[in-house]
Amino acid sequence: MFTSVVELTDILSFIGDFKRPLIEGTQVMKCNHIVEFGCVENNNKTLKIVAMCLKTSDLSGKPHELEVIKTTNNGSVQLSAKCSCKAGSGKCKHIVGLMLKLQKTSIEELDERSCTDLPQQWGKLGQAARGGSHPVAAPRSEDLKQEIRSYFLQSY
Ligand SMILES: [Zn+2]
Repeated sequence: MFTSVVELTDILSFIGDFKRPLIEGTQVMKCNHIVEFGCVENNNKTLKIVAMCLKTSDLSGKPHELEVIKTTNNGSVQLSAKCSCKAGSGKCKHIVGLMLKLQKTSIEELDERSCTDLPQQWGKLGQAARGGSHPVAAPRSEDLKQEIRSYFLQSY
């Protein structure tokens, strides 16, 4: 059975009546602008995921930093989120893009992405991008990669 990290129904109730982030978030996910994500906290109640999302307007610039927290209480799921972009409301396209990506990710797969593996995962991703086997819009600059590595190493 495929168990999503975040179910579509939970995403929809998180977004509420706002259609725009859903439409734009779908684009973010399709363009592979979520360059890295991983779980930094996982217990019975709380699942905390951090991620980086490329800026649509500046692909080689500093990515947005995202955080999604899924809280489970007596079987009911509550999502909350933060993003470093200007919108900052937590319901921006970056957050929705990440949630949609998590919807396509299984719990098992997320387990393999522990926070300590992130720099390694990033290396693999970079290789795939350079090899051109996937049409990902991953950043090519070494500086950015270094920055992402140090972000994850410093924070966690
Ligand atoms: Zn954002």
